Amino acid sequence: MKIKKTFRLFANCIVVEGISQATICDLHRGDVYIIPLEIASFLKVCENENSIDERDAYSSESKEAITEYIDFFKEKELGFWTDEPESFPNLNMKWSSPEIINNAIVEIESIEKSSLLRIANSLKELLCKFIEIRLYNSINKEDLSYFLSLFNDSTLKGITIFIPYLENGILFFLKDEILTNPLVSLVVIHGVRDYRLYNHLPKNKVKLLEKKISNNTHCGIIDPNMFSIKIPVFTESMKFNSCLNKKISICENGDIKNCPSMGKSYGNIKDVSLTKVVKNKEFKKYWSITKDQVAGCKDCEFRRVCTDCRAYLENPSDIFSKPLKCGYNPLTNEWTEWSTNPLKKEAIDYYDFTSN
Ligand code: SF4
Ligand code: SF4
Repeated sequence: MKIKKTFRLFANCIVVEGISQATICDLHRGDVYIIPLEIASFLKVCENENSIDERDAYSSESKEAITEYIDFFKEKELGFWTDEPESFPNLNMKWSSPEIINNAIVEIESIEKSSLLRIANSLKELLCKFIEIRLYNSINKEDLSYFLSLFNDSTLKGITIFIPYLENGILFFLKDEILTNPLVSLVVIHGVRDYRLYNHLPKNKVKLLEKKISNNTHCGIIDPNMFSIKIPVFTESMKFNSCLNKKISICENGDIKNCPSMGKSYGNIKDVSLTKVVKNKEFKKYWSITKDQVAGCKDCEFRRVCTDCRAYLENPSDIFSKPLKCGYNPLTNEWTEWSTNPLKKEAIDYYDFTSN
């Protein structure tokens, strides 16, 4: 008797269909594979049927392509034939997070010590998990050490620090005080002119950038190398904004915003508490904007692993407009340089990036 079976992707491998092609996101290994829509449809049929006769599963015209893809999926350990599909349940796609705020950006360069204390206490109260500290032009070692020390007794999981390259040396400070701090997961040194100074530092904790970051207009670039192919990011992006959900930022002048690149301030840290700002409905309006609501992105096969920048938009007056700094066209599947695209010129002029 012939045994009927079906082809299944592993639970951590999820198909995302775009308008002209699809992806398989391997959320365990952090890889994205591009596949034709026809293959995505075949995988969907397999997912919905407990038993597919291998010979009936595809038409004779598509047989060769499907057989090749199945061999590829097996080789990459993305899927398998099974006669017991009920033994392989789907991944739970629910996302929840107990934190009130789970990530913060703090531009600490000009913030006074008393405000740093207030920021740290509030972030701890809000159970913040990740902090990005940004320094653009100078480093006040005492303030940075002080701010880091305020989180020793916190539930924080990681701190990323952007610091400027300084020839006359922050090397010992970096080695002795910053990189030894268990909370510091990454230091990005920008504007590097002489790599020899820093290239013996641990590569898993220090990233060197030639480009100088002078202010917050550097942010928001959509780059496939920065896609985050992980279960929490994928599941969060289905219901919430993949950049701004549960994010708060404190700018150089102490203004509290969704992100430093946004215009709207919800008060200054000297006068308003972060806790009060987080209760404001208006402040949370971006949190639930998903890529499925964004023009262009809703047709894109990368929408579950891509950042959704809401600060720089193709149409600045439409909060559901596509991120300005994306050069991808989901219709043609081509990546082009966003900054020279004539269709984006008006928005680029509007945001005026010349100062960076
Ligand atoms: S909204 Fe855009 S500019 Fe703001 S933090 Fe996110 S990616 Fe950066
Ligand atoms: S079109 Fe949207 S989802 Fe696709 S890569 Fe660009 S920003 Fe990301």
